Amino acid sequence: MAKISIDIKTGTIKKQKVIVGIDLGTTNSLIAYTKDGHPVAVRAQNNQTIVPSIIHFTEQGEILVGHEAKPYLISSPERTIYSVKRLMGKSYKDIASHSDFFTYKIIDDNTDHLVKVRVGDKFYNPIELSSHILKALKNAAEKELNVEINQAVITVPAYFNDSQRQATKDAGKLAGLEVLRIINEPTAASLAYGIGLNKDEVKTIAVYDLGGGTFDISILRIENGVFEVLSTNGDTYLGGDDLDKALAQYWIGTNNLPYSKVKDDKNFLQSLRLEAEQAKKVLSTEHSYQNTITWGDKSIHCYITRNGFEKIISPIIEKTIQCCKNAVQDAHISIEQIDAVVMVGGSTRVPFVKQTVKQFFNREPYDEINPDEVVALGAAIEADILSGNRKDIILLDVTPLSLGIETLGGLMDVLIPRNTKIPTQASRQYTTSIDGQTNLKISVYQGERELVKDNRKLAEFDLKGIPPMPAGLPKIQINFTLNADGILKVTAKELRSGIQQDIEVKPQYGLTDEQVEQMLLASLQNAQQDMQERQILEAIGEADQILYHTQKFIQKHADLITEQEKENTQKSILHLQDALKTRDKNLIYKAIDELNEVTKPFAERAMDIAIAEALKGKKI
Ligand code: ADP
Ligand code: MG
Repeated sequence: MAKISIDIKTGTIKKQKVIVGIDLGTTNSLIAYTKDGHPVAVRAQNNQTIVPSIIHFTEQGEILVGHEAKPYLISSPERTIYSVKRLMGKSYKDIASHSDFFTYKIIDDNTDHLVKVRVGDKFYNPIELSSHILKALKNAAEKELNVEINQAVITVPAYFNDSQRQATKDAGKLAGLEVLRIINEPTAASLAYGIGLNKDEVKTIAVYDLGGGTFDISILRIENGVFEVLSTNGDTYLGGDDLDKALAQYWIGTNNLPYSKVKDDKNFLQSLRLEAEQAKKVLSTEHSYQNTITWGDKSIHCYITRNGFEKIISPIIEKTIQCCKNAVQDAHISIEQIDAVVMVGGSTRVPFVKQTVKQFFNREPYDEINPDEVVALGAAIEADILSGNRKDIILLDVTPLSLGIETLGGLMDVLIPRNTKIPTQASRQYTTSIDGQTNLKISVYQGERELVKDNRKLAEFDLKGIPPMPAGLPKIQINFTLNADGILKVTAKELRSGIQQDIEVKPQYGLTDEQVEQMLLASLQNAQQDMQERQILEAIGEADQILYHTQKFIQKHADLITEQEKENTQKSILHLQDALKTRDKNLIYKAIDELNEVTKPFAERAMDIAIAEALKGKKI
């Protein structure tokens, strides 16, 4: 959104901030934004939306990205980096088996460390390299929109693990972008088609993504705005490049070229592959392709019909269908249960690919949106949602803040930690702290701080009608169920008597992302102080319990205790009460130990179950 508004107080023009969506691809990358509710891809270079994910470092120390860098793949391969996405979050060990794929130098000095790339006498890590691509995209978008851009949503493959996601986020940071969210590429593609934007929608979809060097199939389940990945499959070394190679190979045959010689002429081989890529693209709309290139004094005839091409690539496309079969199987669904098939990636423009996918899934795939742009466009929609322009929609996949209840001493006891995937549920047992307690107040909080007073109260309710029992004896089970809508249901049940009470709370609503951030920040800043406070409160809580039980014990078992013991106990009780006034946790624990020491002999004599029980479980 690039709205311009006028600040009435100062009379200056304010430009509204723009959050962009970025598809950081293995072969190509794109940046998009939302204009009047519609996603638009930025024409970043050469009037094209796609920017090749290629970085060239000139001898003079200049950094070229995209179309400008591409020609150097042939003329200066050791200073030109491609497919950096394959290195993100990886150690050398992870990629060792594919090291001959890369024509630039990858360092393997320490197998446990993340890989580094060497260009001349400089070393670069994949995060830095990716950040150059992101910077180029950011600059292009800033130029087109004439605003500064510093927030983004970046997409990653669904199978990316934590370190790969973190690396992507860091690359964003390095490029001067705050990455508000990392979302899965198939999720973004679905959003671009409007799937998942309707909250009541329940759908199962397959996203078929055939890019330049990778193939991914993802089966997603969308329910009330939550995207769940049911399964992923694919081949990280299978894509459009393989179609080009297969066609180049075919022409080597039809022109009777000596392969052993061609193989050593890297420049010619590369030109032949580029010619094949050109032919492949033409064949996506035409029925034949013809051109002549030269090799030394030889004329090489490059002729192919669409039919012929389909025969050549059929075994490659067949491999992708095998992956689809596996994905459907792993998702534990049948093909008939799939409601939509979404086509992603430049290579899905090949008519034979569309046709094969259509046959396998037995339905017309969604292919109206440009398959190179669809992921970036979806990311822009997610960005628009995050910027608050689509108030009706929430896309939840994890809980942004922890959920818990208040326990003795005002402490936050977390049942569902932040970043837990939803829907989810958790339960824990608690007990009472006072004899004969028939009512228990249950307070539900959200936040990261140790003390509930610093967190946000969501709800409070009473569990009534607990049969009178000694403190520590009731078994109260508290259950949190957080559904896909972000709605929390809390149930409390006393297990001995079976009495039960429940309540529904909506934790997500009303909290903006900024508030969430603020709360997280506060929890970090206050972590140390919170910890100290928590320790003091824990000590006080423990002391209160011991005082209570000791006094009760003395009353109840007066006959078991000698006068001397009674006197010593009273003295220790006074010490502990004094220690409590100091709020010094060391003094409190010292006094607790002293009291324990004094009461131990007679406590052992008459171990009361209530006390034994009281030592178990946390008290509310
Ligand atoms: P990635 O997601 O891996 O970055 P893309 O989705 O951008 O990759 O796909 C790039 C691939 O798409 C390349 O192999 C390119 O040759 C291929 N491609 C682009 N346009 C066409 C077309 N019109 N017909 C066939 N293949 C195409
Ligand atoms: Mg892609």
